[in-house]
Amino acid sequence: MTNAPCPLCIPVSETLLWRDASSRVIWVGDADYPGFCRVILNAHVKEMSDLPPPERQVLMAVVFAVEAALREEAHPDKINLACLGNVVPHVHWHVIPRWADDPNFPDAIWAPARRARPRRDLPGDLQARVAARLAASL
Ligand SMILES: [Zn+2]
Repeated sequence: MTNAPCPLCIPVSETLLWRDASSRVIWVGDADYPGFCRVILNAHVKEMSDLPPPERQVLMAVVFAVEAALREEAHPDKINLACLGNVVPHVHWHVIPRWADDPNFPDAIWAPARRARPRRDLPGDLQARVAARLAASL
C-alpha cells in the first residue's frame, strides 16, 4: 500500500451514467469492449465482506441493473462480472459485455489478446441508452 490518493475516492475524470449516495456507475469507454461499465462504491471499502449485508445487497442491485441494461441494449453473448481490486483496493465491479469474437474471448479481458477487435454494429447512442435504463430501473 502507498500513501497515494485512491483514484476511486478522488476520481480525476469519469463518465458518470448514474449515481446515488452509496455508489455510482461509470462508462469505461474501452474500444475493445463497448458498453464496459464500472460500478463503484462511493465509500473507500476494501472488501465486499467489509460491508454490512444490506449494503452489499444494495450495491449488487446496481450491478445487476447495469448487467440487465447492457443485455437489453447491446445483446452481448455473455456478461462478465469482476470484482478484483488488486490494483485499486476500493470495492468496484467491472460489468463487461463479451462477444465470442471479441479480442480475448473466452479468456478474461485482461489476458493476452487472441485476435483483433472485430467490427461491431451497436447503437451509436449506446451510452445514453444504458444511462436511460439505469435511470428508469434504479
Ligand atoms: Zn478509495
